[in-house]
Amino acid sequence: MAFDPSKVRAEFPILAQAVNGRPLVYLDNAATTQKPRAVLDASRRYYEEINANIHRGTHHLARAATAAHEAARETVARHLNAAEPAEVIFTAGTTDSINLVAAILPLAPGDEILITALEHHSNIVPWQMLCERSGAILKVVPCHDDGTLDRAAFHSLLGERTRLTAFTWISNAFGTVNPVHEMTAAAKAAGSLVLVDAAQAIPHLAIDVRALGADFVAFSGHKVYAPTGIGVLWGKRAALDALPPWRGGGEMIKEVTFEKTTYNELPFKYEAGTPNIEGAIALAAALDFVNGRGLAAIAAHEDRLIRRAAEGLSALPGVHLYGPPDRAGALSFGIAGVHHYDLGTLIDQMGVAVRTGHHCCQPLMGRFGITGTTRASFAVYNTEDEVDALVAAVARAVAMLR
Ligand SMILES: *Cc1c(COP(=O)(O)O)cnc(C)c1O
Repeated sequence: MAFDPSKVRAEFPILAQAVNGRPLVYLDNAATTQKPRAVLDASRRYYEEINANIHRGTHHLARAATAAHEAARETVARHLNAAEPAEVIFTAGTTDSINLVAAILPLAPGDEILITALEHHSNIVPWQMLCERSGAILKVVPCHDDGTLDRAAFHSLLGERTRLTAFTWISNAFGTVNPVHEMTAAAKAAGSLVLVDAAQAIPHLAIDVRALGADFVAFSGHKVYAPTGIGVLWGKRAALDALPPWRGGGEMIKEVTFEKTTYNELPFKYEAGTPNIEGAIALAAALDFVNGRGLAAIAAHEDRLIRRAAEGLSALPGVHLYGPPDRAGALSFGIAGVHHYDLGTLIDQMGVAVRTGHHCCQPLMGRFGITGTTRASFAVYNTEDEVDALVAAVARAVAMLR
């Protein structure tokens, strides 16, 4: 193990508290992660030392804030192996990034958008809205009973009218890891633009956008130990240069007259208005934090935890695990005769925080004939003792509820 999880844990002040008189066991990381001191310090230092509006100021603070904001963009670009920092557009998060692409994509009646059964509502609804506006058609790749994608169906649904193919890298509901390189290559070969929802991939996997070959990659800072309200749309320059601007306002313009406005270069073309400066700087600190531990070491640690949880939970009577055995980040389960909401409420009283419900994936829940699951999701600071606490709490709750 390249790092000691108990030492990592000490870097997250929120984890030291007790809930209902018991040590907090935080296993809701797929919803949002906790923040290490390095990230909290980056936010605080920004406001204590360099806060100013960026890009247009000549004074000292404006220059310092601009430099820190643009250095953050460079950190993100390096982390993604982007060809240039200008391909990194700061947004409010994954949902915002996907809505940006949905807003600028010029589609005609009969054009097709291909998504999958595993998508988060954020990667469904913006496309439905675009279809309503444009007359385009939404097509959905089904998944198998084990929660993996039907690859044959994916390939057969890709057609010459497919303008955009959008899919998640890792399912937030089941932890399924999609074969995104194969999917991207096939969609590109079919002449489609490709958007990858990397909201769950960002904390667990190294993302190399050049190796991936997609046109757009979206993620949220808060799922990778950064604050809420900051995220990224990475877009290939060739794709973004060919598309129109989105929101109008300051920053996204070159020159404004009442007769005609010319638009700014990437990335500013898509960053109208004062951005979340502190958020971008804190996001860079979060990526530095992750890279300091090593993504491969983090993934190996999380993998051990998720396998231990799968083993412990599946040994309990009536437990059904969703998703394939090779999961990343999240483990979803149901228990015969026990409602997930009751289970979540009871184990919360034992200090264990998990998520219950549809996980913003109602169509996927519908596919499995359920209204929701109980989901435990893991991060760098979780420990084997916490996994055992989860399994013990579930066992006790089931005994009480049955
Ligand atoms: C969390 C999540 C989103 C939405 O992210 P926001 O930060 O809420 O915008 C989208 N897709 C997946 C897979 C997610 O896990």
